[in-house]
Amino acid sequence: MTLKEMIGESNRIVFFGGAGVSTESGIPDFRSADGIYSGKHTIPPEVILSADFFYSRTEEFYQFYREKMLCLSAKPNAAHSKLAEWEKAGKLIGVVTQNIDGLHQSAGSQKVFELHGSVHRNYCLRCKKQYSAEFILNSDGVPRCTCGGIIKPDVVLYGEPLDGDTIEGAVNAIQSADMLLIAGTSLSVYPAAGFVRYFKGKHSVLINRDETPYDHECELVVHGKLGEVLGNL
Ligand code: NAD
Repeated sequence: MTLKEMIGESNRIVFFGGAGVSTESGIPDFRSADGIYSGKHTIPPEVILSADFFYSRTEEFYQFYREKMLCLSAKPNAAHSKLAEWEKAGKLIGVVTQNIDGLHQSAGSQKVFELHGSVHRNYCLRCKKQYSAEFILNSDGVPRCTCGGIIKPDVVLYGEPLDGDTIEGAVNAIQSADMLLIAGTSLSVYPAAGFVRYFKGKHSVLINRDETPYDHECELVVHGKLGEVLGNL
C-alpha cells in the first residue's frame, strides 16, 4: 500500500516528529551531519541544555540558546503546512512534537502536544511573569524580570521531567490513532521516543533522512526529506 492510499483511508492520523521536521525551515537538528553536534561547540548541546548547566552557568546557557535555539525568523515548511491542512480536513487528530520552535502552530495546527515545551513561553523564576521569545532574543547576558528574578524558557531541559498533562494528551492521541506518522526524529531522546510504542492502530509510517531504531517495526519506511515527501502528496 502506498503512503497516499494509507492517508486516504485514515481519519485519525497522529504525527510524531522531531528536529528533522524543521531543518527544511532552516533550523538545524542535533544529530545530522550539518546539525548542532557538528558545529564548533566543544560542550555538547545536551550538556548546555541541561537544568544543571542552566542554573550554574546561566550566562553561557543563554549565549548558546540565543544563537542556536532561537530561530525566530524561521517559517513553516511544506510538512508543517500539510499537517495543518489534514487537521482542518478532519483527518489528523494531533501533532506530538519534540520541537520547541512553535512552527506547527504558525502553520495553523491547533492540537499540538509540545513534549519539550516552547521557546515562545518564558517566565520569571521568582514571580512567574511571562515573557516573549523576542524579549529573550533582544536581552543581553542573563534576561531578568522587572522584579529582578531570572527568566527561564518554558523548555524541558535535560534532567527535567516532562509535563504530566502533555504526556497524557500525547499518549491518548497516539493510543486512539488509526495511523501513526513518525518523522524527522532520531528516536533517541527518552522518554519522548518511547511514546510511539503506545500505537495500536492500523498503519505505521516512518519518514526520516537517516535510519532509526524503529525502522524495522513500521509498515512503511521512507528515507527522504519530509517536506518534499509530504509536499508532493
Ligand atoms: P535529532 O537531531 O536527534 O534527529 C533528527 C533526525 O531528523 C535525524 O535522524 C535526521 O536524519 C532527520 N532529518 C533531518 N532533516 C530531515 C528532513 N528534512 N526530513 C526527514 N528527516 C530529517 O532530533 P530529535 O530526535 O528531535 O531529538 C533532538 C532533541 O532536540 C529533541 O528533544 C528536540 O526537542 C530538540 N531540538 C529541537 C529543535 C527544534 O525545535 N526545531 C531543533 C534542534 C533540537
